[in-house]
This record gives sequence, C-alpha cells and structure tokens, in this order.
Amino acid sequence: MAETTESELIVLGGGPGGYAAAFLAADRGMKVTLIDAAERPGGACLFVGCIPSKALLHIARLLLEARDASAWGIEFDEPRIKLDDVRGHSQKVVDTLSKNLLGLCKQRKVEHINARATFVDPNTLELNNGTKRRFKHCIVATGSSPTRPQSLSLNSPRLMDSTAALKLEDIPKSLLVVGGGYIGLELGLVYAALGSAVTVVELTEGLLPGVDRDLVRPLQGRLEPLFQKIYLNTKVVKLQETKSGIKATLEGEEIEDREPVFERVLVAVGRRPNSADLGLDRAGVQLDEKGFIRVDPRRQTSNEHIFAIGDVAGEPMLAHKAHHEGKVAVEAILGEPSVFEPRAIPAVVFTDPEIAWCGLTETEAKKQKREIKVARFPWAASGRAFTIGRTEGLTKLIVDPESEIVLGVGIVGSEAGEMISEGVLAVEMAATAQDLSLTIHPHPTLSETLGESSDMLLGTATHMYRPKK
Ligand code: NAD
Repeated sequence: MAETTESELIVLGGGPGGYAAAFLAADRGMKVTLIDAAERPGGACLFVGCIPSKALLHIARLLLEARDASAWGIEFDEPRIKLDDVRGHSQKVVDTLSKNLLGLCKQRKVEHINARATFVDPNTLELNNGTKRRFKHCIVATGSSPTRPQSLSLNSPRLMDSTAALKLEDIPKSLLVVGGGYIGLELGLVYAALGSAVTVVELTEGLLPGVDRDLVRPLQGRLEPLFQKIYLNTKVVKLQETKSGIKATLEGEEIEDREPVFERVLVAVGRRPNSADLGLDRAGVQLDEKGFIRVDPRRQTSNEHIFAIGDVAGEPMLAHKAHHEGKVAVEAILGEPSVFEPRAIPAVVFTDPEIAWCGLTETEAKKQKREIKVARFPWAASGRAFTIGRTEGLTKLIVDPESEIVLGVGIVGSEAGEMISEGVLAVEMAATAQDLSLTIHPHPTLSETLGESSDMLLGTATHMYRPKK
C-alpha cells in the first residue's frame, strides 16, 4: 500500500502560475506543497521558454545593433560567436533564477516535491515516487507543450520544437521555420542574427495572425532583409529526411522551389494544454473541446476542491496571465470574492522591433462591429526614435468614440514590451485620451509617443500637424 499524507493545498506544476500561487498561499498562512516534474520551480517559461529565449534575443539584438552601428560611424569586425559560451550565458541565467525560486520556496516553507503526479480520485494524487497525497485543495498549473501535427512529425535530430531550438546545438546554414507566430519569429530572429539563412513559412495571409496589421508591417519590413525568405499563405505539407537535410514539401502560390532542403527545421505551430495523462477524469475535472480545463471566473473547476490556472486553463497562453490567475485562485480558496476579469492582458512579441498590445485591438473591434476611434503616432515624429535609429515604430490608441476612454493600446518599436504597461494601466483605470495627454512623459523618451498619440486624437500633437476634424 502506498503511503498517503495530507496536504492543505497542493499546487501541481511549478511554472510562473504555479509558484506565484504557492508563494501567495504560503504568505497567507496555508501549508503548501508544490509538486513539479523538474528539480526546481520555474516551469517551461523559465527552463525552455520566456527566459532562455530572451537571453538569446538579447544577444541577437546586440549583433544586429552592431551591424546597424556602421550607419552611425562605428564599424565592428565580424563577430566571433563562441556557441558554448552563448549557451552557457543562457544556462547560467536559468540556473540562477531557478535556484532563487527554490530558495524562495524554502524561505516560505513551501514543500517542493520533484515528482510526476496523477489524480486517482477527487481528493488524491499519486506520485511516481510511490507515495499518495490527499489534499483539501489543489491548483492545477501544468502548462502546455508544443504541438506537432502528424504531417510535420519526423524522427530526425534535425527537426526541432522550441525546446530543442533553445538548446542551440549548432548554427545551421539553413533553417526552415514552420509557423510565423510568436515562437517562429522570435527564434527565427535569433538564428538569423547568429548567421543562419532562415526561411519562414506561414499558413495564413500574414505573420502573427490576429495582430493588427499596422503593428506587424514595420516588423515584417525589418525581418524581410534579415530572413532568406518569408512565405505567406503557404503550408508545409510534408517533411522528409534526405542525406543533405530535411526536404520540405510546400503548398501555396508564388513558391520558387516547392521542395527545398534545410539543414534544420523548427516547427512552431502552436501549443496544447498539458491536461492529458493527469487522471483529471478520475477527479471529476471537465475539459473543453480543445483540452483546456474548464474553469469559472474564480478559476474553480467542475470539482470544487480543484482550481486550474495558466496555459492548461485556457488562452492566452502567457506567463503573466497565469501569475494573476494563480493569485485569484488562492484568494478564492481563502473564501475571498476574487475573480479573474482583467480588461487588458498585455501581449508582447519580443522580436526586434517588439510588438506589444493590450485591451481591445482594431482587429477585434472590427470582428465585434464595435465603433472605435484610433489615433496613431508614427515614431518618425519622435526625437528619441531618431537618436536610436529606430523610426519605423508606431504607437496607437484605440478609444471609445463618445467618452474617449482608452480601450486598447498597440505599439511596435524598440522597447514596446516595456512601454505597454502604461497602456495596461490606462485601460484598467479607464483613463481617457485626455488623462494620457495630461500625464507628463519624460523627454526624450519613446514613452512620449503614448502622450503624443493621445494628443493626436485631441488635435494637439506637438510633433505632428494633425488638426482635430
Ligand atoms: P502561434 O499560435 O503564435 O503561431 C503558430 C503559427 O503557425 C500561426 O501563425 C499559424 O497560422 C501557423 N501554422 C500552423 N500550421 C502551419 C503549417 N502547417 N504551416 C505553416 N504555418 C502553420 O504559436 P507558437 O508560435 O507556437 O506559440 C505558442 C504560444 O506560446 C503562443 O500562442 C503564445 O501564447 C506562447 N508564446 C508567447 C511568447 C511571448 O509571450 N513572447 C513567446 C513564445 C510563445
């Protein structure tokens, strides 16, 4: 008979949702057990996602800026890339942060168990170390994994998902990226900056489907000369191993070579929730048709003792959404009237330039047939953008046409990811364009473009002549 112990709260999965929930619960006086298949907390975000990719994107940016610098009178020699050290840098960042998280577990007396667990009944988990745990409450935060459709499956060391691509085993001469979404563009950029000839194939008519086109255009303009080729409206229907590499069969119009061969292939066509193999049916936890755990606004599942947060509980699959849901779930367990109803969840594509948006987008407004007013401030009118040679950017506000309350913000440009938080605050606080205009932004900064975009709406922008209609 397996030994069974009792836990007040078990958090299953130690990613940014799971550990945030575990830490808050401990801070609020609960006895918490955090179970994760990895030795340390951090989850996919820290080990094989957000953090290592950003460490590599920082290096990519440095390489690209060094190339740009010739226009400002600084010539660098061709960089010598020591791939072991590049990997080492990324690994060191991951190691340090994961050790810090383990330290924070200890400080808070959160019991961290390195094991895989599955539900055996509505209140019990079985661990692969032979023990069982009964719980009063459980928060499922098991995240998501890369999807690989059957047509793109191939048993080849040349075929990579995002996890394998982040290992950066080599810099292939040629790389096919299947999928022009977040991962395809971020990692495609890393490999292109390091010297690979990158071909991106995107199924739909544009990169980053769903994102407003005026935000995507400046990014595409910068990626086109950097990538070997970007194919839109094109499908990769088959991958085949050959002696010289992986042969991809492409379907679409305007393709020069329908069967190009690549040294490596990265498949980045989406992620699926990690909800299978958890025994959720035995726990009475229902899934939706896409495999996400069904949750209510408190993040409670169909089992009142079990909550679910993060990627496994629905889109958008973003770490900061998981973090906030984790807090809501803990507060709900504590009996507080907490719900997850944000007006604005920011999204950032960490390419160069970055794209960031929050709240209502123009694309979404069109879908909803909702009347909006849009103000755009091009960075070609920003002094700061000139000083860094990045005038391709754009900041835009989407406001209610009557009240001029800010409903959404979109930015493309250097540091857009840092700047979007002001937009999130504006949307959450129901600020008006006037409020943003009255907010003094420091000069000269890129953040001024948020003030000036509201001035555009009011017809009072200093650096653009656009009288109010
Ligand atoms: P994605 O949904 O962003 O993009 C996948 C792309 O692949 C889509 O554009 C889709 O049209 C295309 N596609 C699908 N099948 C194809 C085929 N056969 N041939 C060509 N193209 C095809 O998915 P992703 O890039 O894998 O990222 C998954 C999720 O991970 C994202 O939705 C996001 O939630 C998260 N993520 C976030 C960040 C970030 O916050 N910066 C970074 C990476 C990943």
